[in-house]
Amino acid sequence: MPSFPASFLWGVATAAYQIEGAAAADGRGDSVWDTFCRLPGVISGGHTGDVATDHYHRWPQDVALMADLGITAYRFSIAWPRVQPGGSGPANLAGLDFYDRLTDALLAAGIRPVPTLYHWDLPQPLEDEGGWLNRDVARRFADYAALAAGRLADRIGMWITLNEPFVVTAFGYALGMHAPGRALMLGALPTAHHQLLGHGLATAALRAAGAREVMITNNYSPAWPASDSPADVAAARACDTLQNRMFTDPVLLGRYPDLGAFGIGPDGLSWVRDGDLAAISAPIDGLGVNYYMPTRLSALPDSPLPFQLEPIPGYPVTAFGWPVVPAGLTEMLTSLRAWYGDALPPVYVTENGCSADDVVAADGTVDDQERIGYLDGHIRATRAAIDAGVDVRGYFEWTFTDNFEWSEGFHQRFGLVYTDFDTQRRIPKASFAWYRDLIAAQRGAG
Ligand code: BGC
Repeated sequence: MPSFPASFLWGVATAAYQIEGAAAADGRGDSVWDTFCRLPGVISGGHTGDVATDHYHRWPQDVALMADLGITAYRFSIAWPRVQPGGSGPANLAGLDFYDRLTDALLAAGIRPVPTLYHWDLPQPLEDEGGWLNRDVARRFADYAALAAGRLADRIGMWITLNEPFVVTAFGYALGMHAPGRALMLGALPTAHHQLLGHGLATAALRAAGAREVMITNNYSPAWPASDSPADVAAARACDTLQNRMFTDPVLLGRYPDLGAFGIGPDGLSWVRDGDLAAISAPIDGLGVNYYMPTRLSALPDSPLPFQLEPIPGYPVTAFGWPVVPAGLTEMLTSLRAWYGDALPPVYVTENGCSADDVVAADGTVDDQERIGYLDGHIRATRAAIDAGVDVRGYFEWTFTDNFEWSEGFHQRFGLVYTDFDTQRRIPKASFAWYRDLIAAQRGAG
């Protein structure tokens, strides 16, 4: 493995609803995911995050394992419904106490805490008022950010506002595969703007509370046309606009990309008000890039979404069936640099990893060679982007322990650590030792 800069952050990433469990503990309220999981048939196996990996109670053991792994940074998310069970008003102190203890334990272990304020767990009372379709939720988000940072920014410098607002808009409000399960197609577009406005207002609130670095995390995927035909090329461009540009141009350039491919003219975004884009494009200190795979597209005429996904043959696939294309990460990072030039802040790979059909062998070990191959390829691809001139400053593997994988329940295992969901026993996989050795070698090399 080539060497990385000495200051490069080596981490893992998690999200509150996927690991914490303790859904009703210490005053936590329901989020949209608690509600969604109760609907029959929406989650594989009927699983829920009620217990997840019970991290809320087992965090000392998890932090000890992280110390063993040698990571220098840990990206986790703060559960809004723990901090503000009703989505507004004063903080639930018991909820904040949890993140306070976690922060101190991480710092004591020499691990930099990097919290994300919103990883999809909107308090249900806010959804009852329209959720992200309701502009007012952006302001509520900033209030919540102020409460969290008011308690923690004395010890935490680096903050992430939103995780993957595209997925919330697309899967949560347009297609209905994620909470809150709305299928509004292009009617979901206001949720993109209101999340971005929430990011902008929260950025100001975080800075006022003493946060030193503020970032947003988006998911990115190179959009490849299925053929050279003009129709497929246009389809790829339309998908690229929606997934890669719509949640980044407003933040870095202060404007929305051309949405003509969706029949939306320059004045079509009626929910954008004067001053919004100035708030959204307030300077940030880093861009979080989540990357899993590229996307291949063909044209789908006469449809509100003028493209459809095509398989990408010729590559190995993960347990999810996702193609393993490390070069796509280099392509994505260099594309961001080409698109945004000096407007691109330092970049952090805030998620990257794969699910695999991990099994515990008779000797009690989990030999996940596919994951090692995936990570090795993508970490090299990150280095290649640095060599090509992209200022990449960290890599956070997704994820630490096997956890609640949203609609897939506990059926997709992404962890460096195997979770036995019956006993909550943790078993570090072969990839854990591999990543530990890589980090140790890099830190020694630095
Ligand atoms: C999300 C994670 C999720 C991962 C794998 C990302 O889109 O941020 O929460 O577990 O992908 O599906």
